[in-house]
Amino acid sequence: MAEERRGDVGHESKNPYYEGKKYREPTYCPSCGLVYHEGRWLDESVPEDQEANESLCPACRRERDRNPEGLVYLSGNYFEGHRKEILQLAKNAEERAKEDRPLQRIMWSEKESDCLKLATTNEHLARRIGKAIASAHSGELDINSGDNERLVRVYWKRED
Ligand SMILES: [Zn+2]
Repeated sequence: MAEERRGDVGHESKNPYYEGKKYREPTYCPSCGLVYHEGRWLDESVPEDQEANESLCPACRRERDRNPEGLVYLSGNYFEGHRKEILQLAKNAEERAKEDRPLQRIMWSEKESDCLKLATTNEHLARRIGKAIASAHSGELDINSGDNERLVRVYWKRED
């Protein structure tokens, strides 16, 4: 399967969120302000002598389409009691990831039945958040990547 995909030349360009997609330089994301420069989306400004194109970056595109690559589900009594510090760990993991890769973000969080669900632009960030929480607060961590879809679900739970 992986072999086939590699040979399929249009595959990457069909994925609108593909982080390696090429844009004209410089291109400015009107939503988050990142600038595409030297082949990457970076947290910098457009040089004054250049006119930028505008296009949503892959991260903002995912947010607009509500199409995450990672979901982190946090639950349990212990979580409710330590919510603030646990969410801070998630935020820290995001900040560290963004230093190198500004497209790796937590897009939103929402309540879902007895969980708090965090949606990330990137599967690595979802794993990173789950591992950071589990290493600081133990609990049960379960990482589940679907076979076909490119979506990782990370479950962390601690009752007491
Ligand atoms: Zn953006």
